[in-house]
Amino acid sequence: MANTPAEFPSTADVVIIGGGPAGTGALWALERAHPGIKAVLIERAPQLGSGASNASLENFRSIWNARCNIVMMSRSIEVFKNPDEYFGEGTQLGVKQRGYLFCGITEKQAAKLRADVEHLQQIGLSHAEYLDEAAIRSRFPWLNHTVIAGKYDPHAGWLDSYALISAFARAAQNASILLDVAKVEIRVSSGKVEGVQTPSGFITSPNVLIAAGADSRNIGRTAGIELPIVMRPRQSFTSPWRHPEYPEDGPMLIGPAPFPHVRPEAQTGAIFGYEYSWNDKKFREQGEPAERELIDPIYPADVWKDPRFPSVTLYLFARKFGDVSGGFASPQYLRGIDHRAGYYVYRDETTAYELMPDGTHLPYESQRAILDSHPEINGLFLSVAHVGHGIMSSPAAGEIIASKILGQPLADPSYADFGYNVHFVEHDSSGLASDEAVNLQL
Ligand SMILES: Cc1cc2nc3c(=O)[nH]c(=O)nc-3n(C[C@H](O)[C@H](O)[C@H](O)COP(=O)(O)OP(=O)(O)OC[C@H]3O[C@@H](n4cnc5c(N)ncnc54)[C@H](O)[C@@H]3O)c2cc1C
Repeated sequence: MANTPAEFPSTADVVIIGGGPAGTGALWALERAHPGIKAVLIERAPQLGSGASNASLENFRSIWNARCNIVMMSRSIEVFKNPDEYFGEGTQLGVKQRGYLFCGITEKQAAKLRADVEHLQQIGLSHAEYLDEAAIRSRFPWLNHTVIAGKYDPHAGWLDSYALISAFARAAQNASILLDVAKVEIRVSSGKVEGVQTPSGFITSPNVLIAAGADSRNIGRTAGIELPIVMRPRQSFTSPWRHPEYPEDGPMLIGPAPFPHVRPEAQTGAIFGYEYSWNDKKFREQGEPAERELIDPIYPADVWKDPRFPSVTLYLFARKFGDVSGGFASPQYLRGIDHRAGYYVYRDETTAYELMPDGTHLPYESQRAILDSHPEINGLFLSVAHVGHGIMSSPAAGEIIASKILGQPLADPSYADFGYNVHFVEHDSSGLASDEAVNLQL
């Protein structure tokens, strides 16, 4: 890799720990905001992008409910659409802007989708479309007739996440990237960061960014702190086969609750996901209460792969869409699949809760990352809790954390909502997760 240094970098302006979308996005944005900055990125694995992004569907969408996420995704999509400008001439990110179609099959679901679109348009997302049955038939004639309504995001799509991570790294020409670094320890003295210890030596730096996905809490502990994050395993699978009726230029399809989703992959394949209800029962003794989230990751995340996942996801599709379009009941979808697992990392209940009139805290599942300095340690920064959208948000997330590190103003006032201590933000929801999957719990 071009950024591999000839000598061990013993000093830096910033050390970034973690080479996934969050860490490399920060590296890219730091170099753009402060050309020539001496940044060192440390990655534990032999290659960049060795965390959750490997299991992801690599999608992006523009339709969100909280303003901070809307602005963040809109900025990131602008970067995806102009790779020459942001990463250098000839950069290919494999961007396919083919839309997201949230499908409704009952009148009740249609009414909900219509109300969602009205709300989205009121908050300025005028490109969000409600499609009635006639519009669905004419725009997507191949779609099964059980679908009678849709919420459509025409700006949404997908890309090649590894190409994005590589483009971030390549564009940061002055940075040093250290791969295969088995262990890091952040050294703190008198409430201030001094640098990072690695097996090859100490890097003196006044600023350290933790961007290590599911491992971030472990790294925080080396600085004597507990980061307020939790995680849940999530799975996906790619099938080399796609039903001939589901065209290559078709959108990502999202079924009604519990929201199984699928998109075309390359010429003949498809990639599936489903945010099922989850707990850690399989690792508990009998009678011991199960948890719905983990404090610490178990590696490899593949231990969470449930062999039933692909067939359950297809069953949901076949049940919701019938057996015609997409042919989701076809056993061909299950042949030669690549089944993967990774972690979604969230804010925990101390950083995402609603304050009730009686003073109690009502925790909720936030979709907001933490992009901020740590409140107790000077020079320590965080880009964590990217939930299920850390690829699509990575350009803007990088810019936000770069502004914080460099002490520059935020590009949009709503970005303050990614603050460590901002425990509640209106409309902070709209992941695809669902609790309605009780009978299909994996
Ligand atoms: C099934 C699934 C589907 C998803 N679908 C999408 C999607 O469609 N679109 C989207 O935008 N997002 C999606 N995501 C979410 C997305 O993958 C994550 O939000 C994103 O990868 C988070 O980026 P990150 O850099 O914070 O963490 P990661 O991607 O996990 O990267 C962390 C990096 O840090 C490294 N690291 C870990 N520990 C250390 C250490 N001690 N020292 C040095 N380096 C370390 C890891 O090796 C890794 O390279 C999906 C995730 C899953 C699991």
